Formats: sequence, C-alpha cells, structure tokens
Amino acid sequence: MHVIYGGTFDPVHHGHLRLALEVGERLGSVPVSFVPCHIPPHRGETGATAAQRLQLLEVAIADEPLLRIDDRELRREGASYTADTLRQLRSELGADVPLAMVVGTDAFAGFDRWKEWQQIIRLAHIIVVRRPGSELDPAGEPARLLAARGVDSAGALETRASGCILEMDPPWLDISATGIRERICSGRSPRYLLPDAVWADIQCMGLYGACPVKKF
Ligand code: ATP
Repeated sequence: MHVIYGGTFDPVHHGHLRLALEVGERLGSVPVSFVPCHIPPHRGETGATAAQRLQLLEVAIADEPLLRIDDRELRREGASYTADTLRQLRSELGADVPLAMVVGTDAFAGFDRWKEWQQIIRLAHIIVVRRPGSELDPAGEPARLLAARGVDSAGALETRASGCILEMDPPWLDISATGIRERICSGRSPRYLLPDAVWADIQCMGLYGACPVKKF
C-alpha cells in the first residue's frame, strides 16, 4: 500500500509526525509519505520557502523508517491539485497497488469542493482522521460518500486499489503550525511542539522571525 499525507508543513510539528506514525502503524507498518504542497503567495511573507520546508521535513523524519517525503508537488511549477498528484502516482504504481491519502475531518468536510473530487476517489482510498471539534454535515456530500464507501478495517484497503474511505481516530495533539509561527515571531519558544532539530534549523535559518543563531 502507498500512503500519502499532504499539507503545507510550515513548519512540520509533532502533531503531523505523531499522526503519520500512528496511521502507518495502524495500517500494519506501512510507510507514510509527507507530500509538502506549494504555498499560495497570499499566505504571507513570514513562511518558509519550499526548499526550507523540505529541509525541515527531512530533519524531522531522519531515522524514522516509516516516514518518507515525496517532494513532487514542490518540483512542479505552480500550485498542484491533489487529483494531478494522485494521477501521477497511479501511473507510477500501476492499476492494482492500493493507494491512500490521509486527510483530517476538517479538510474532508469540504471534499466535494476539491477539484475533480469524483476522480480522486476513483484514484485512491481516503483515510479520514477525526479532528476534535470538526464534524461532517450529516446532510452533505462528504457524509453521503462516507456512508457509501466507508470500510471498518485497515485490511479492507488492501483488497482494492482505490475507492474506499476508512475513518481513524488516533490521538490528535493540539498543535498548529500557525501557533508555532506566532510563538517564534513574538520571541517565545516553540520547544516541545516540534522536534529540537527542526527548531535548531529554524533558528539557524532565521525563519518565521527567529533570531538567527549559529548551529554547532
Ligand atoms: P497551519 O496552522 O499553517 O494551517 P497546520 O499545523 O494545520 O498548519 P498543515 O500543514 O496545514 O498544518 O496541515 C497538514 C495536514 O496535517 C492537514 O491534513 C491537517 O489536517 C493535519 N494536521 C494539522 N494539525 C495537526 C495536528 N495537530 N495533528 C495531526 N494532524 C494535523
């Protein structure tokens, strides 16, 4: 099974890392690939560049065999749509290999507004991770899709290449990249919200308003 987990990861933090590891383990020691996406220019100037976000991800997952990085969206020109990424992966993996993407309930709640969403579910399984405080509208298309396509075990995802939705409820750490950026910008420490090695690199590169310090 091939599993991807997309996001901006600006920067990656322990919430992302724990979630990816939990998902990989619950699927039976399946590697999970972080797929960092382009950040639209309107997101502001305090964020890191694509190369810097990638570097922070590399530092964060070093030595963890279940976590990987797929930087294909950063290598493409302009914004990437999930459907394009999945189409590319499907052509590399072939028609029969199960392919799954991880999304939070917050993102899945608006799934029917994603470009080519009907195509997405044909290309891949969806693993919906319950995010506290975020519910699906019971009358909405995502809830209908979940009722029609939902499976209740990770094993079911292995029996088909795509088209199923599995809900998972791993512990959700209350950490956000926005909160980390705000802390750094206001001179407070983000320690213990993200790996020390990531924080060291953020300081080294002077990101998010951090005072640059030398790395020894
Ligand atoms: P930002 O605060 O900049 O919006 P974020 O911390 O929410 O960032 P993203 O890069 O936007 O992180 O999210 C990538 C993916 O990680 C999304 O699917 C999102 O639902 C999920 N995610 C965000 N925060 C957490 C968390 N604390 N634990 C697990 N997954 C998370």
